[in-house]
Amino acid sequence: MTIDTDTAVPILSGNWSHPQVEQYHDVFNPSTGEVIAQTPMCGMREVDGAVQAASKAFADWARTPAPRRAEVMFRYRALLNSHFEELAALVTRENGKTLDESRGDVRRGIEVVDFACGIAQLLKGENLPQVANFIDGATTREPLGVCAGITPFNFPAMVPMWMFPVAIACGNVFILKPSEKVPLTPVRLGELLLEAGLPEGVFNIVHGGREVVDALCSHPGIASVSFVGSTNVARHVYTLACANGKRVQAAGGAKNVLLVMPNAEPEPTLNAIMGAAYGNAGQRCMAGSLLMGVGSIGDELRDRLVAAIDKLAVDDTSANPRAEMGPVIDGTSQRRIQGMIARGAEEGATLVRDGRSGTPAHGFFVAPTLIDDVTPEMSLYTTEVFGPVLSMLRPDNLDEAIALLNRVPYGNGATIFTSSGANARQFVREIQCGMIGVNVGVPAPMALFPFSGWNQSFFGDLHVQGMEGVQFYTRQKVVLSRWDNTYKRTQGW
Ligand code: NAD
Repeated sequence: MTIDTDTAVPILSGNWSHPQVEQYHDVFNPSTGEVIAQTPMCGMREVDGAVQAASKAFADWARTPAPRRAEVMFRYRALLNSHFEELAALVTRENGKTLDESRGDVRRGIEVVDFACGIAQLLKGENLPQVANFIDGATTREPLGVCAGITPFNFPAMVPMWMFPVAIACGNVFILKPSEKVPLTPVRLGELLLEAGLPEGVFNIVHGGREVVDALCSHPGIASVSFVGSTNVARHVYTLACANGKRVQAAGGAKNVLLVMPNAEPEPTLNAIMGAAYGNAGQRCMAGSLLMGVGSIGDELRDRLVAAIDKLAVDDTSANPRAEMGPVIDGTSQRRIQGMIARGAEEGATLVRDGRSGTPAHGFFVAPTLIDDVTPEMSLYTTEVFGPVLSMLRPDNLDEAIALLNRVPYGNGATIFTSSGANARQFVREIQCGMIGVNVGVPAPMALFPFSGWNQSFFGDLHVQGMEGVQFYTRQKVVLSRWDNTYKRTQGW
């Protein structure tokens, strides 16, 4: 196939290049439906090239002192900040989220680079002199080698940056496989990383879909795989990469609960629910998806939400800076979400606001949707929608709400809105889920904490971000040393 280098996205395999591949994936501006770039769908050949480039760079990079590696991160941080608006605009162009949401995407990513700047301190081990007679004990942390990262479309800047800044700062070399739907931001992140002075081969990008993912999970030269995406693919990646002896962390999909007690503060609660359910057009793994209005609060909550939904400006985010909600990623997602709304109605739920109509004529829009009278038997309760659809349930009390919540097979996020410490404490202690909000609509941990999904939302042990990220990207040595003259003296040497 002839390559149009104006629209074809390059790979980074030591150097930037355009691979010879048979297939390309169209990249859209989701607000208009216009094709803006083409992603080369690579395979084992390109993965193998990247592994070779990375392996060549590993020994030198691993022995570069940690403070020198941190210097690259400091320069990278400065470059990301000086290109902040450019990066945010790029995210909006290929993902469709509003410019403010894109700024959040880039900012959360930069916070991981901030964290990685402290790598010299974070990598320090422990020691205990005289752990036994004449023996000193110490631990050290060392990099794994070639690490791979596979990322989804919904946060083109943040999710790749959950992984590679920490991996690289720890002394590893890295291969990123971004979502084929949003390759432009990751490529720009890579260009800036090289501009920051990262040696050739330490960071690489191979584009594609399942073929590249399977090659990364099975290539003998790769030590670890980090994955973020839907649950079925997370399970597949976990199974395949583990079977090939790799260290794996695989974050999956979600079905997050927003639980409102009658004693919640009305105004901040409403604003937080609107942001959680319809921010990023609902395409967030921490999006509020199931709304439980407990006891007497249900009707009032629904009416206030309807009023707020009717005021929300849904429009082309690349042309209208006043747009408050953008499109979903592509036509396939749009049709899937519309299908789930239709199925909810067929199963007996009440469509309070139906986002299948009232959208701009171009692009891939679904308007904010509110569905009431949802029950645990319905597909809207059990299946991730990943779009601007909020499903309401009406438990009678907190015990019933917690029991309902614990039937959700996922375990990413859940929030309680309440002014009662006792309600909050019971919620935090009794729910089966890894990231919990108390009066926080989207309890997504910042870079200093691990992104702690449970159940079907995570496969593995160590999560991305925070100290768990450092532990994931390093392995430990324990050293016992006997260097004491006293020993010689007692032995009569
Ligand atoms: P996805 O699972 O379709 O794709 C994720 C990655 O896997 C992409 O790079 C894609 O190319 C690749 N892929 C897709 N299908 C594959 C297959 N059959 N075999 C191998 N690889 C495959 O996810 P998406 O649609 O890009 O992103 C949305 C999903 O990601 C949602 O389920 C969302 O909840 C989840 N997500 C989870 C988190 C988290 O931290 N838990 C964060 C962000 C997104």
